[in-house]
Amino acid sequence: MSELERNCQLSDSTDCPPSAAAPRLERIEAHTAQIGEGFTIRRAVPSRQRRMVGAWCFLDHAGPVDYAPGKGLHVGPHPHIGLQTFTWMIEGEVMHRDSLGYEQVIRPGQVNLMTAGKGIVHAEDAVTEAPGRLHAAQLWIALPDAERFRKPSFHHYPKLPIVPSGGFTATVLAGTALGETAPAEVFSPLVGIDLTATASAQTTLPLNPAFEHAALALVGAADVEGEHLTPGTLLYLGCGRKQISITCDAATNLLIVGGEPFKEEVLLWWNFVARTRDEMVKATEDWNAGRHFGEVKGSPTPRLSAPDISSIRFKHGRQ
Ligand code: MN
Repeated sequence: MSELERNCQLSDSTDCPPSAAAPRLERIEAHTAQIGEGFTIRRAVPSRQRRMVGAWCFLDHAGPVDYAPGKGLHVGPHPHIGLQTFTWMIEGEVMHRDSLGYEQVIRPGQVNLMTAGKGIVHAEDAVTEAPGRLHAAQLWIALPDAERFRKPSFHHYPKLPIVPSGGFTATVLAGTALGETAPAEVFSPLVGIDLTATASAQTTLPLNPAFEHAALALVGAADVEGEHLTPGTLLYLGCGRKQISITCDAATNLLIVGGEPFKEEVLLWWNFVARTRDEMVKATEDWNAGRHFGEVKGSPTPRLSAPDISSIRFKHGRQ
């Protein structure tokens, strides 16, 4: 998925409070954004309050939404650098195509992990013209400096570890939780967990106290450390927690993300994660000139062009 807004803002990871060393309960309202034609999503990260949670630097929640014939998701070919896109499909199907030649349909319960490294292009399209339903989360993971120029790669994970926990079903999306380790190859210490319940449930989820964490309700309502969460609110939990208590009275679905506080300053603009203005400008010019990134074959959707970067003010004016 992709940042489609024409007036997209620069997000600088130092332009918000530092990672909280101690437990916190901070409620952060997600804002809405457009991806593809007519798809409104909730974007919980980055926000003015929190630019990152560990290495997780972007958290979009799409749906659940029913769409009409021919109105499925279509995000045309667009580039990425410096990050991994992590797609968690909850309902529906989407075709991923990239400049490495991968064509992969992602289905419920599966993860697509695309490591952009020094540069990749992908497109995401509804599989058919039939009406359907979409519910997904797409997160981005900032690559640490030592890995951000690596060769691009793509992995599809059809099956993830699932652990029952106090009436919830926990799916370990990334990292290690509840004694299980997800297969996704990541380059910073982090964790991602989907918790689903079909009726009332109560669990205490063990956490790594060295990580900062956040919780986001996707469907229904849940209480996390006594805070009532419904879709659209991210609860930032800070570091230093060995566990969190999660309860629900009825069917619900929520995400827990966490990771070691990311020490490098990260710039995020459009579909790029970088460290300097020069890197952003070069990636933008390369993409708009058709250089460097390669191309995606087979997508029915037109290629996206980058918005104008010339008016973006960079905090340090760094070149
Ligand atoms: Mn994308």
